[in-house]
Amino acid sequence: MTDCIFCKIAAGEIPADVVGSTDEFIAFNDISPAAPVHRLVIPRRHIVSFDEIEQLGVGTSGRLLAFIAATARAAGVAESGYRVITNVGPDSGQEVKHLHWHILGGRRLKGLG
Ligand code: 5GP
Ligand code: ZN
Repeated sequence: MTDCIFCKIAAGEIPADVVGSTDEFIAFNDISPAAPVHRLVIPRRHIVSFDEIEQLGVGTSGRLLAFIAATARAAGVAESGYRVITNVGPDSGQEVKHLHWHILGGRRLKGLG
């Protein structure tokens, strides 16, 4: 999508602090971190949110989950713990309409709700 900021990051058209990538996915640091570790994982292919996950297919979806776990391990938070979040739609506060997963860690996170 031409006006999607995460598509532009995936295409290398705008800079990002990329920490990992494959032909299907890319991981980079959030520009406004909410925790000492705050990484974002996106599929290179544009889909709006987790609500469209079926469009990725079972194989890519499975590899995406493994890539998220590998990104967290590479960030050094697998033992201390972390949170994985994907926001969907208005009530979640989703700002960027390209599926992305937040990996948050490096400090004790507050409970949900
Ligand atoms: P959302 O609220 O959509 O789940 O989260 C979007 C996230 O993307 C936010 O945490 C925001 O800081 C991050 N973000 C927005 N624009 C950029 C950008 O241009 N570069 C990077 N690295 N992160 C961004
Ligand atoms: Zn996009």
